[in-house]
Amino acid sequence: MNTAAQSAGVLSFEEAYQVVRERCRAILETGDRPGEEVLLLHALGRVLAEPVVADRDFPPFARATRDGFAVRADDLASGVTTLRVVGQVRAGDSYDLPVASGEAVEIMTGAAVPAGADAVVMVEYTERKSKELNHKGHEEAQEPESRKGIADDDHILDIAGQEKAKPKPQEKRTEDFVEIQRAVVTGENVVPPGAEAREGQELLPRGGRLGAAQIALAAAAGKASLRVYRKPRVAILSTGDELVEVAEKPGPSQIRNSNSYSLATLVAECGGEPVQLPIAPDEDGKLTELIQEGLKADMLLLSGGVSMGKFDLVEQALKNLGAQFFFTGALIQPGKPVVFGEAGPIPFFGLPGNPVSVMVTFELFARQMVEALSGAEPSRLKSASARLKKDFKTKTGLTRFLPAIVSGGLYDPEVEVVLWQGSGDMLAAARANCYLVVPPDREKLAKGEMVTVVMR
Ligand code: AMP
Ligand code: MG
Repeated sequence: MNTAAQSAGVLSFEEAYQVVRERCRAILETGDRPGEEVLLLHALGRVLAEPVVADRDFPPFARATRDGFAVRADDLASGVTTLRVVGQVRAGDSYDLPVASGEAVEIMTGAAVPAGADAVVMVEYTERKSKELNHKGHEEAQEPESRKGIADDDHILDIAGQEKAKPKPQEKRTEDFVEIQRAVVTGENVVPPGAEAREGQELLPRGGRLGAAQIALAAAAGKASLRVYRKPRVAILSTGDELVEVAEKPGPSQIRNSNSYSLATLVAECGGEPVQLPIAPDEDGKLTELIQEGLKADMLLLSGGVSMGKFDLVEQALKNLGAQFFFTGALIQPGKPVVFGEAGPIPFFGLPGNPVSVMVTFELFARQMVEALSGAEPSRLKSASARLKKDFKTKTGLTRFLPAIVSGGLYDPEVEVVLWQGSGDMLAAARANCYLVVPPDREKLAKGEMVTVVMR
């Protein structure tokens, strides 16, 4: 093992994870990040550089949460009650008269509950009744003789000679009532104005990551664009004499550089701006030059060259540049030789070159650093539980993160490991949708047991 490797330790997974997390916290607190303005639809995955504030109350009016009738709860205290329907209010409308005792206003979900009403009865607990007044005791007041107009077919001239619409026969003979079959408590099915947030209140904090829910909230607050932090530039440097670029034709013993692509994709996915550097050969001079280039970014990801082989020169090159190491290995599989440190203020990870190792170690360690550099609180690992489909045997000592497939329904997720040819097996990685976690003290996981997976 080279000198750099000796100067920092090999940690358990938990220790290594905590070390990275602490550095993330420190970086998050000290970072002075430039911001930029982006259109709302370009804000997905970005991090707010300033809070989003409510420009009005949320909700701005007493909002009905059900279709039904706006009522005064007191009116319904004595069991089944019939109320007079005095109007209708749809979402976007308002009903401007106060609702008096004995009255109800038909209301739709999302509409403003009129003044006077203090609850909404769901339509399911009501029965609409139309009283035909002329046939039921002449309840309708007779219009005075003097106010009667002269009727033609469709119109009536009132006494001032102005034409007004002739009420339809139905309107003239009926009046609307609703029978309410259930009492409601005050406030039922109504969200009062400002219940979610008051005007001027912070809706989304600085440092919050923007997903669909946050973008929707910003839209509701009238923000057509948002001030977000500039994306951190993450340099990606693949090392290895065996590598050729994707467009080149590999010789018989060469392989294409795919890690630069998995890493660039993962970086972009968690809010960084990937900067792919040319392939570094396993030769000190050129490697050092490219590492120096990479350290001009906000973070450096190296792939390959961190194992104990004769041509694994990455750690030594970094050490020669004055880098400090927080760990030079973690008791995990795949990815055991993973390296984490800082060169000046720039954090770097040396990720083992095997394609699956690169992806696993990015997920476990590097992701949270990209997030911290974006100005966001680093997210936790996306762990979930699933029932193991088949017995699984292994050796103790390492925490394993094995490509696996979670399937099954909402309440009965199942998981099985993908058969693989080791940590170089990219097909296994591409088939998997998660990593099965095997704790370091377990030799066997039994079929049917609930196990932990890290989703990706
Ligand atoms: P290393 O960590 O440098 O010993 O690399 C381990 C193995 O991973 C190599 O032998 C390659 O097969 C593979 N490998 C390394 N770098 C890359 C890369 N950039 N893209 C694809 N495979 C790689
Ligand atoms: Mg190598």
